[in-house]
Amino acid sequence: MQKHDVLVVGAGLAGQRAALEAVRAGRSVGVLSKLHPLRSHSAAAQGGINASLGPQDSPKDHIFDTVKGSDYLADQDAVEILCNDAGPTVIEMEHFGTIFNRAPDGSLDRRAFGGASYNRTIFSADRTGLALLQGLYEELSREKRIHVFEEWTAIDIVARQGVVQGVVALDRKSGAIEGFSARAVVVATGPFGRMYPNTTNSHASTGDGTALAYRAGAFLKDMEMVQFHPTCLPGSWILITEGARGEGGILKNGKGERFMTRYAPNKLELASRDVVSRAIATEVKEGRGFPDGTCHLELMHLGKEKITTKLQEIVEFCRNFAGIDPVVEAIPVYPGQHYMMGGVSTNPRAETNITGLYAAGEAACVSVHGANRLGANSLLETLVYGKIAGANAATYAAKAPESGLTQADVDLATKKLHVIWDRKQGESPAKIRQDLQKVMKENVGIYRTPEELLTAQKKVAELKGRYANVYVQDKSTTYNVNLTDALELGYLLDLAECIVAAAILRTESRGAHVRLDFPKRDDANWLKHILVQASPAGPKLSFLPVTVTSYQPMERHY
Ligand SMILES: Cc1cc2nc3c(=O)[nH]c(=O)nc-3n(C[C@H](O)[C@H](O)[C@H](O)COP(=O)(O)OP(=O)(O)OC[C@H]3O[C@@H](n4cnc5c(N)ncnc54)[C@H](O)[C@@H]3O)c2cc1C
Repeated sequence: MQKHDVLVVGAGLAGQRAALEAVRAGRSVGVLSKLHPLRSHSAAAQGGINASLGPQDSPKDHIFDTVKGSDYLADQDAVEILCNDAGPTVIEMEHFGTIFNRAPDGSLDRRAFGGASYNRTIFSADRTGLALLQGLYEELSREKRIHVFEEWTAIDIVARQGVVQGVVALDRKSGAIEGFSARAVVVATGPFGRMYPNTTNSHASTGDGTALAYRAGAFLKDMEMVQFHPTCLPGSWILITEGARGEGGILKNGKGERFMTRYAPNKLELASRDVVSRAIATEVKEGRGFPDGTCHLELMHLGKEKITTKLQEIVEFCRNFAGIDPVVEAIPVYPGQHYMMGGVSTNPRAETNITGLYAAGEAACVSVHGANRLGANSLLETLVYGKIAGANAATYAAKAPESGLTQADVDLATKKLHVIWDRKQGESPAKIRQDLQKVMKENVGIYRTPEELLTAQKKVAELKGRYANVYVQDKSTTYNVNLTDALELGYLLDLAECIVAAAILRTESRGAHVRLDFPKRDDANWLKHILVQASPAGPKLSFLPVTVTSYQPMERHY
């Protein structure tokens, strides 16, 4: 049995930042990561990180833009923390070793991003996530009292009487299962976009910690809010960063029209993501797209120099995955699933409803993004709320009683795993996952109808039924991805069920959640979060008021 004061599950930006804070507060810290930390999805982030570093811009502007972007569903106290800490966070990351692009005068360069009143996105070309992750990892590597368990997959979060006790995890290298007792646990396992086939998320983005926390009794929040990024390469669904539009890229439909003039006359291509995604989907649906069902993103007018220095990775992606040279050709794009606004519900102290359990990053939902996240606010959230989670977990762990994780807890988790692993026949996890992805793509997309959502509910329930008979063909203990795929599919199914249940309940259109049968936002009835909790009868739904401090809801225009 391993023993730590604070155990962080996940080593992306949120997990690493939490671990750093907890160890610097004097606690013993363990970090579990199913991947090598530098392979976390954070490394894929391209466009940048927001911070209002003046001269005209201020945290107040950043707060307002974020609240407006969220379609007023964000909790404004949490947004204030996010935006007020943005400048110090970026500067701290620079001191940790992240190299950002510079303006000619030597200051941090800033690019325009969607939904922002000023250029406030700080970037490292189009590889900002990797630059941040490397800087933070170097800083973390200096701490001798952190033990990083690379390639260990958490398979259970144990809580008793509403108090967390620790985690049970599987060593992917050897197949060993071990208990990790901890006074405090931080969930930072990142996104869960892999329930969609058309996603920008990496293969490991399967929502493990979010689902395990849910199974342990934690509330999830804002699950119905699924973000589609306007510009992805159809087929591979590789992201073309919003930074491409921030640098001046424009969108055209099949008739050569710059159609964003009709949807967002002021901000055009730099309206918020929900608006631009709907615009592209509408153009294609109404027959104004290109024959291959896309719209085009044009960068050619920016010139070779700018494209190949500030958008180097985009050039590579287009060449390697679409056979296109964006210096001379337009890029065919269509919206793809990109980000989950929902996750483990926390307050602005990163606390969940389970004592000692904290959550941060994309796995969590403090609700700074509400119904629609602004580009470049997520990297910021991982660092700001990762730090808060680490600090509060450390403070709590310093006084908390010893963890009561027992060998019986480990044995129980092991037994549950072996029910799946030892089965002699049954359904292939790959087939069920494919079917899940089809259901989500066809029924829980940019536009939602009650018929489609009810179909999704029925089909996800059927898939859960089939999952009860899932079969792992590979019985070996070394890097058994067949086994971990099967576990991850279970997490995706649980979370898909929550997304659909909340999407059926919310009878209005707000941010990324657009119901064709309820096309208007309805503040009188729906200015509230939906919470989801696990129950034997399935997801149990309840409500939580939105915290409004400075900005009363207004109609959104871009
Ligand atoms: C292609 C792409 C581009 C993006 N670009 C931007 C951008 O420019 N700006 C921006 O603000 N946001 C961007 N985002 C969003 C942002 O990158 C993510 O929301 C953020 O990086 C998530 O960080 P995280 O620390 O929460 O999770 P991750 O970085 O995904 O880390 C999750 C960690 O959890 C671990 N883990 C998962 N399951 C388990 C388990 N069962 N046991 C143990 N460990 C586990 C993994 O090993 C990993 O270390 C982008 C996202 C994508 C997909």
